[in-house]
Formats: sequence, C-alpha cells, structure tokens
Amino acid sequence: LNRRLAEFGTTIFAEMSALALRTGSINLGQGFPDTDGPEEVREAAVRALRDGRGNQYPPGPGVPELRTAVAAHQERRYGLSYDPDTEVLVTAGATEAIAAALLALVEPGDEVVALEPYYDSYAACIAMAGGTRVPVTLRPHEGSFRLDLDELRAAVTDRTRLLLINTPHNPTGTVLTRAELTAIAELAVERDLLVVTDEVYEHLVFDEAEHLPLATFPGMRERTVTIGSAGKTFSFTGWKVGWITAAPALVSAVRSAKQFLTYVSSGPFQYAVAEALALPDSYFAAFREDMRAKRDLLSAGLAEAGFEVFRPAGTYFVTTDIRPLGESDGFAFCRALPERAGVVAIPNAVFYDHREAGAPFVRFAFCKRTDVLDEAVARLKRLA
Ligand code: PMP
Ligand code: GLN
Repeated sequence: LNRRLAEFGTTIFAEMSALALRTGSINLGQGFPDTDGPEEVREAAVRALRDGRGNQYPPGPGVPELRTAVAAHQERRYGLSYDPDTEVLVTAGATEAIAAALLALVEPGDEVVALEPYYDSYAACIAMAGGTRVPVTLRPHEGSFRLDLDELRAAVTDRTRLLLINTPHNPTGTVLTRAELTAIAELAVERDLLVVTDEVYEHLVFDEAEHLPLATFPGMRERTVTIGSAGKTFSFTGWKVGWITAAPALVSAVRSAKQFLTYVSSGPFQYAVAEALALPDSYFAAFREDMRAKRDLLSAGLAEAGFEVFRPAGTYFVTTDIRPLGESDGFAFCRALPERAGVVAIPNAVFYDHREAGAPFVRFAFCKRTDVLDEAVARLKRLA
C-alpha cells in the first residue's frame, strides 16, 4: 500500500458490520436502512432490466432521464436551475462523487478545509488527490455540535483550494443554519474558494430545522459542487446511484476523473431513480416523519440508558457522549459493546484527526425497524 493510503486501513463500517455479524449483535453501526425503499421504485428497476434499458453501458454523464429528474428535483425543492446536459453528472453513489470531485479539483499540495468529524472517505480521497486536509472541529455547544466561524476563517490559508462541507452532518446530526452557511459562503467568495458540499441527507431534517443548499447562497452557484444520493434519499444504498450538480466547467472537470474511476454504473437503477425523484412530496414527508419518530425513540432510549444524547436535527445518526456511563474511550467501548450488550455502534474518533476531541463520542444509526430499536434500547439499558 502506498504512503498516501497507508494510514487508512479498513473502513470502520466494514469492520463494525463484520463484528455485528460475527457476534450476532444488533447493528446500529453502519448507516443503512433495514427496510428497502418504495416498492414502485423497485418495480421501476425491474421494468428497466426487463425492457433492456441500462443493461449495457449507460452514457458517461448518466442517462438523460435521470439527469433531467435531478435537475427538476433541485428546481422543485430549492429553486436551483441546472441544465441536465451540462450541469448534472450521475455517479456511483455519493462516494464516487466525492472521490471524483477531489481528484479533479485538488492539486497536490493544496489544502482542503473539512468539518471534523468528517465522513471517512473524505480523508482518504483528499489523500489520494495528494491534498492536505485541514480539519475544523465542530464542538459540543448546548446540546449540538457547532461550527466556530472564527476557527473556520483561521483555517483558510493561501494554499486552501476548497472547502468540503457536509450538511446535514454525519456523524453529529448537525444541520448548518442560515447564519453559518452565509458565513461559509462569504468566506468562499472572499477567498475565491471552490466548495464541495455533501448534502446526501438533504431530506432528513427534523422539527424546525431546514436544509439550505449552499448553492443557493449569493456567489455560490458558480463555485459549488453539490452532491446527492439515492442510497440515502430512497433507501437503496446497494444501488450506488449518486449525482452532482454544478456549473458546466466543474461538472466537466469532475467527469474527467469519474470516467477513469468507474466510467459508468448502475444502468437500470438510474432509470428507477429518475422515477423516484419524481415521487410526490408525500413520499419525502413520510420518509422524514418515519425517521423523526425513530430518532425520538432511540434518543429517548439512549438517554434512559445513561448516555448523554446530542439529539440530531438531521441525518439518521445520533451521537452520544459515553462519559456519564463512566467511560471515556469510544473505541474501547465500541469494541466491548457486542460482548456487553449485543449492540454495535461506531466510535466517532475514527472521523477525527484530533482523536482526543472525538474520544468520548459514539454514533448509533436509527434507520432501523422500530422493534429492532426497541430491542437495542432494552439491551443498552442493561449496561448501567
Ligand atoms: N456522504 C455521507 C455523509 C454519507 O453518510 C454517505 C453514506 N454513508 C456517503 C456520502 C456515501 O453515499 P453513497 O452510499 O451514495 O456512496
Ligand atoms: N455512510 C454510511 C455511514 O456513515 C456507511 C457507508 C459505508 O459503509 N461506506 O454509516
């Protein structure tokens, strides 16, 4: 393994899912739903397969039906207008979108400022691109993890090439506010930075929180690559259909990298996702309501079990602090948890460069059936 990748080893998600299987534990580690997305969307995939749509290489940028549907979705939800031919690119999940964007836009030696904790592929992709990651740590403040705007500003240097943003944020569940996003946008414009924004949990925001795409802020549309995922929005993580929307020059750059990563992927599923994106608002509302109820169930259960809970405003993850349980090392806690309670969770420290800043935090996924969450809570209560 080369020096760029040597520090990364096996992704925590594979490691923890294997641990769950091996120990027969309830897997609240890796974030994937245990209920598949809508039947009609699965039927659409079957129809595409049967009708011979997408069984051979789809077009490099994605099938026109899906690019048109992505553009229509951005217009309908956010009033953002993108040309399906030049401003939309279909990718093999958001994972490839992140990789291709960083490989295309980062020069060796460039600095990439990312919110910490960060989704694990960010660090690896920045490294593969030869860039240097500059983490800005979200810190606990009155029940949620917040961005310190002065720290963000201080992290930008003459070598900074781009800001890598994620809202709603995995693993903390933070949804960046209008004020925070305004400040990020102003900084990007002032320092002439590109922004890659991972908005795969755009539909999972709860209560009064609102998802505001960075591309809607003044001066941002031209400098922002926005990433979405059918895995997250329609509960088909195995299909690996994602996309970016951006200005033509940025899409063209990302495509240059993407064509040599997978070239194309997921032919028949692209047609099905095109239909999914056109589902009525009631689908998105019901999906959000289902996850809100699950968030409440797991958050309350974890609090009763003795964890300090950071009730998430978005995503399907809840971050907890294990110190009230008399623990301080999330790694050790998560390694022992299958044995002690038959539950698997993720130590947030894996998402940090400043490991000590993440040490006491542990993430649980709640995109699981209610009976599964109930059983997990019952088991975790025995810890105390
Ligand atoms: N970004 C974030 C923040 C995620 O949580 C995930 C999925 N865990 C991804 C990207 C990857 O998405 P996909 O499965 O579409 O590749
Ligand atoms: N995004 C999911 C999570 O955060 C996992 C994705 C993966 O396994 N690569 O849990």
